[in-house]
Amino acid sequence: MSTLRFNALKETLNRQPIEVNEPKRRSDIFGKNVFNKYAMRQHLTKQAYKSVIDAMENGTKISREVADHISTGMKEWSIQNGATHYTHWFQPLTGGTAEKHDAFFELEMDGEVIEKFGGGQLVQQEPDASSFPNGGIRNTFEARGYTAWDPTSPAFIMGTTLCIPTVFIAYTGEALDNKTPLLRSLQVVDQAATDVCKYFDKNVSKVIATLGWEQEYFLIDAALADSRPDLQLAGRTLLGHSSAKGQQLDDHYFGSIPSRVLNYMRDMETECMLLGIPVKTRHNEVAPNQFELAPIFEEANLAVDHNSLLMDVMRKVASRHNFKVLFHEKPFAGVNGSGKHNNWSLATNTGVNLLSPGSTPMKNLQFLTFFVNTIKAVHDNEELIRATIASASNDHRLGANEAPPAIISVFIGSQLTKVLDELEKVTDGKLSPEEKTDLKLNVVGKIPEVILDNTDRNRTSPFAFTGNKFELRAVGSTANCANPMTVLNAIVAQQLIEFKSEVDALIKDKKLKKDEAIFNVLREYIKQSKKIRFEGDGYGEAWEKEAKKRGLSNNKTTPTALKAKVSKKTIKLFEDLNIMSKIETESRYEIEVEEYAMRIQIEGRILGDIARNHVIPTAVKYQNRLIENVVGLKEIYGKEFKKVAKEQMILIEEISEHIEKINKGITEMTEARKKANNAKSAEDTAAQYCDKVKPYFDVIRYSCDKLELLVDDELWPLTKYRELLFTR
Ligand code: ADP
Ligand code: MG
Repeated sequence: MSTLRFNALKETLNRQPIEVNEPKRRSDIFGKNVFNKYAMRQHLTKQAYKSVIDAMENGTKISREVADHISTGMKEWSIQNGATHYTHWFQPLTGGTAEKHDAFFELEMDGEVIEKFGGGQLVQQEPDASSFPNGGIRNTFEARGYTAWDPTSPAFIMGTTLCIPTVFIAYTGEALDNKTPLLRSLQVVDQAATDVCKYFDKNVSKVIATLGWEQEYFLIDAALADSRPDLQLAGRTLLGHSSAKGQQLDDHYFGSIPSRVLNYMRDMETECMLLGIPVKTRHNEVAPNQFELAPIFEEANLAVDHNSLLMDVMRKVASRHNFKVLFHEKPFAGVNGSGKHNNWSLATNTGVNLLSPGSTPMKNLQFLTFFVNTIKAVHDNEELIRATIASASNDHRLGANEAPPAIISVFIGSQLTKVLDELEKVTDGKLSPEEKTDLKLNVVGKIPEVILDNTDRNRTSPFAFTGNKFELRAVGSTANCANPMTVLNAIVAQQLIEFKSEVDALIKDKKLKKDEAIFNVLREYIKQSKKIRFEGDGYGEAWEKEAKKRGLSNNKTTPTALKAKVSKKTIKLFEDLNIMSKIETESRYEIEVEEYAMRIQIEGRILGDIARNHVIPTAVKYQNRLIENVVGLKEIYGKEFKKVAKEQMILIEEISEHIEKINKGITEMTEARKKANNAKSAEDTAAQYCDKVKPYFDVIRYSCDKLELLVDDELWPLTKYRELLFTR
C-alpha cells in the first residue's frame, strides 16, 4: 500500500503543466456551442424563432408543428457544430445531472440512413427512470416519468452531444427533479414582485430573479487523490493528521496561482465560454490548493443550469490535467471548507435591480420595500432556509471556524441599519406634512447609491446584504442551487403578496395615501423582523447564547434541520403558491433523510475498512520492528537492556493502546450501524446515524492520526495531508 503512496508522489512530482489553446478574445467564442438567439435566428424560420422567444419571455406554449421546425433547425445547427447525438439533460433528485444519449442517426423502412430529430423527440422523452430517487412518488412497477423541454434554458453542445435542458416529471404529474419547483417559484415571484412594482412604476410587466453563484473547490493531483480510498469513495479525507503547516500564514489566499492550476483554469474557462457560462473571476482561496470561480450573474434558472453544467465541465477538464476536483464541503480537517455563495436579487424588465438603492426618494422607497420584505421573509422562514442548505457534508462546515454558523441571521451594514432604525419611528397611521418631507428627504432620500459599508468583514453572516444583492453564504459547495433558490423565491413571493394586501387594505379602509400605507406596513415589518438582524461576529458561544435568547433556531445537524422541510408551515407555503404539492414536498424530505443516513453509512464503512485493513496492519508492522529492536538490545545488554530500550518500549505500548481504541471503536460503530439500520423509520435511522454512529468517527480517527505520527513514514500507506495539500 505504501508503494501506492510513493508511486503517486513520484508521478505527481514529475508532472508538467498541460498546454492549452486559449482564444485571444473570449468574445470570439462565447456561446459558440449554445443554440442561443443568434444561432436560432440563423437556423429557424421567423415564426419558429418568434415562438421560442415568446415561450422564453412569456411562458407561452409551443405548438407541435412549430416544434418540428425548431427541432429541424436545432439538428442542422448541432450537426454543423460537430454533434452526433442528442440527449434530454435534466437534474434528478440526486442533485446532479442526468443524460442518456441517442444518435441522430436513423434507419428508414427501405434501409436508407438519415439524420433525424423530430419535434416529438425535442419536446418529450421517456428515460428509463426507475432508478432515480423519487421518495415514494412512484412505485418501481409504474416507474414511468418523462422529460419535457424547458425552452427558457437554451440547448447546448457538450463534446459531441446536443443537450436539451428539460424538466423531469412523473406520469401522475409530480415533479421528479429540482428544476420544476424552481421554475414554478420563479413564476410566482415574478407575479408577486410585478404587482408590488406597480406601486412605483406602471411600466413594469415582468420581474426575474437573478443569481450569481461563487463556486469554491479544491484541486488535488489525480494520482494522490486516487491513492486514498476515502477521497476516492467519499470525496473527503476521513483521517489524516494535519500538516505542520496549514493555512496559518494566510499565504495562499489571492496569492499567485500555480502554473499547472492556471492552465487547468484557462482550459476549463475556455470550455465554459463555448457553453455560454459567463465565468469571470478566479482566485486562490484561503486553504492550500483551494480555489474559487465566479461568473457574471444571470437569470436564476439559467444560472442554476450553468452551475450544474460547470461542475461537470470542471470534473472533465480536471482529468485532462491530471487533477481531481473536490467539491466536498470539508475535504480536509483543520483547513477551510468550501461553500457556494448564492448572490440573489430581483430585476425588472425595465432594467432595474430592485435591491439596488436609487438616486431619488421614490426609487429608494421601492428599494426599501423589497429590502425590508426580503428581511421579513427570511425572519419568518429562517428554519426553512437552514433546512434547505442542510446535508451530511455541509454539516462539517456550518458552524466551523470559517463558515457561517447554523443560525440564520441577516447582515445589512451600519448605514442601512440607521435607515431602518429611523423608519421604525414612523408615526402610526397618517403622517404629518413635516414627517412626510423629513422621511422623503432625509431618511429615504439620502440612502447612498453606492452602499459603502456593506461588507461583512469576517464573512460569518449566512445571509448578508452586499450593496445591491443578498448573499446566501451557507449553501454547500456540492449543492444544486435550485433548492435554496426555490425557497428564497417562494418565501419572498409569499411575503410580497402579504405586503400588497396589507398596503391595499390601508389605502382602502384607512384612506391612507399610497406612500403612507407603505411606510406604515414597512414600519411594522422592521419591528417584527428585528431579531433576525445581526451585525456582530457569528463565531462562538456569545452569539449562540444571544440567538437563543432571541428565539432563533440553531439546528446543528442535518436530521434536526431537515424537519422544517415538512413542517405544516412549509407544506402550506408550497401548496398555497402552487410550487409543490404535499406529496412533492414530503418525497423530497424522504429522499434527503435517506441520503443522509446512506452517506454516513458509507463513510463509516470506508473508515472501518481503512482503519482495520490499512492502519492497524501498518502499526503492527512497525511495532514488530520495535519489538525486534528491543529483543536485539536485550541480547546485547542482558539485564541492563531497559536502560537503552526504554523509549522503544513506551512506543510499543502506545501503539497497542491506539490499536485497541481503533479496533474497539470499529466494533462498536458497526453495532451502532446495525441498530440504526433496524430503526423503525427512515427519520429514526438518520437520527441514529447522526447521534450514535458518527461520534465514533472522531474516536477512530483520533487514534489513527496519532499512529500516523508514531509510525515510520516509509511504512505509512496513506498519502499525508502535507502531500495532498502542498504537492504541485
Ligand atoms: P464578492 O461577493 O466576492 O465581493 P461581487 O460582489 O463582485 O463579489 O459579486 C459576487 C457575485 O455576485 C458575482 O457572481 C456577481 O455576478 C454576483 N452579483 C452581482 N450583482 C448581482 C445581482 N444583481 N444579482 C445576482 N447576483 C449578482
Ligand atoms: Mg461573495
